[in-house]
Amino acid sequence: MFSLFHKRHNCFCAFCKSPRRIYRKKNISLMNIVGSALASIVVMFAIWQQYDPRVMIAFVVCLALSEVFVKIRWRLSVVCRSCGFDPVLYLKHPEQAAQKVKAQLDMRKQDPKYLLAKPLNLPAIPAEKAKALQAKEKGRLVSRSI
Ligand SMILES: [Zn+2]
Repeated sequence: MFSLFHKRHNCFCAFCKSPRRIYRKKNISLMNIVGSALASIVVMFAIWQQYDPRVMIAFVVCLALSEVFVKIRWRLSVVCRSCGFDPVLYLKHPEQAAQKVKAQLDMRKQDPKYLLAKPLNLPAIPAEKAKALQAKEKGRLVSRSI
């Protein structure tokens, strides 16, 4: 019941840890169905001035539109505005998500709007891990040259 009044959910970005809000709703609720029914009844009277079985078509179209709207709104709210991290994309294609973050960070560097903004709290690679990565890289380079 509580969540009905709190459409947005406060959380933190999984990548840059900046606070953000995302929409809870992923799918249409009973309220959207009732709203679609009312909208289709209004449309029915506006077009035919009486009851018409074609109201069912209008109802289905209204339902589809609100479902699409809620889906798109949720999908857009999930992406971090600061670093561009997209958790949904990350689950499916981590490389694409990484590229998007990189593009967003490059854009941030060039945009004077962000010059005075608080720097993002980006995850740093610990020294040990960086060394391990470097060693791995070297190994690969060596094996490639052989
Ligand atoms: Zn972020």
